[in-house]
Amino acid sequence: SAKASGSNQWAFFKQQMTERAAVRLRTEASLHDALKNDEFLLHFQPKLDLATGALVGCEALIRWQKDGRLISPMSFIPVAEETGIIVPIGRWVIEQSCKVLKHWQKQYNFAVPIAVNVASQQFSDASLVPDIKQLALRHQISPELLEIEITETSLMNDIELAIMKLDQLKSAGFGIAVDDFGTGYSSLSYLRHLPITTMKIDRCFVSDLPEDSAIASTILMLGKQLDLKIVAEGIENEQQLEWLRNHQCGIGQGFYFSQPLPLEEFEQKYIASNNASICEIGG
Ligand code: C2E
Ligand code: MG
Ligand code: MG
Ligand code: MG
Repeated sequence: SAKASGSNQWAFFKQQMTERAAVRLRTEASLHDALKNDEFLLHFQPKLDLATGALVGCEALIRWQKDGRLISPMSFIPVAEETGIIVPIGRWVIEQSCKVLKHWQKQYNFAVPIAVNVASQQFSDASLVPDIKQLALRHQISPELLEIEITETSLMNDIELAIMKLDQLKSAGFGIAVDDFGTGYSSLSYLRHLPITTMKIDRCFVSDLPEDSAIASTILMLGKQLDLKIVAEGIENEQQLEWLRNHQCGIGQGFYFSQPLPLEEFEQKYIASNNASICEIGG
């Protein structure tokens, strides 16, 4: 009967919900263990000045080394956000980046900013601003060497609070980038009130280049008007690079230059060598 089949569906639905909840609980538990057992690591992807090829920064991207495999952040950051464990994980990312900055300074007398991703839940946590300030202070890191990357969506959750936090970070000297720009729901009228330093053009607009350039052009124009640095994400080929260069995009990042690399490899390639800051970028 209809009633029986309805209740079967309900039972099936309930079972699925229970399984999902169980998976989430297991993942949360293993994320706790991962923190405790030091199973996270950072990879680094260079950001290059598109006009000169100079290294101007890098992005720290988290990986989870689990049972000999590297797990992508896409598969655990969302759960970490849902469960709140993103806060200590994000704190680990920031502290680890401070340590790496200190190491480059001591070992190579070299300074280049590291950008860290801050998740929405982490940005709304009251501890974020004091944590960043305290970590930079404790590790004696100049705030200019740390940049936070936040998505538009995180900013738009509570715009007044976001502006207040960003003001505090910016006036302390930290860099602030809007990540994946163009994919969220930024209100253009708020954008000019946001104390940000950088906009990152999302890679979906870069991958449309050079044929479909309307959005990339618009973001570049907007960035210029607002006096922001613009970083193009996800540059994968010469044609995209040429277009971006010809349209005065300042900075680029992508597999065309380099995948995100383990620390030692990044150091060998970009920091340890004499001409560390100048890289061949094609053309
Ligand atoms: P995102 O911040 O937008 O980072 C860029 C992602 O694009 C990275 O993926 C990077 O490996 C990838 N990528 C870079 N260049 C290219 C390219 O030329 N082509 C293609 N197809 N991809 C490219 P990844 O490392 O898997 O990170 C994915 C996302 O996970 C990040 O996107 C960020 O939202 C999040 N994430 C990574 N690390 C952290 C972290 O430490 N904390 C938080 N909260 N989120 C993180
Ligand atoms: Mg990012
Ligand atoms: Mg991005
Ligand atoms: Mg992204």
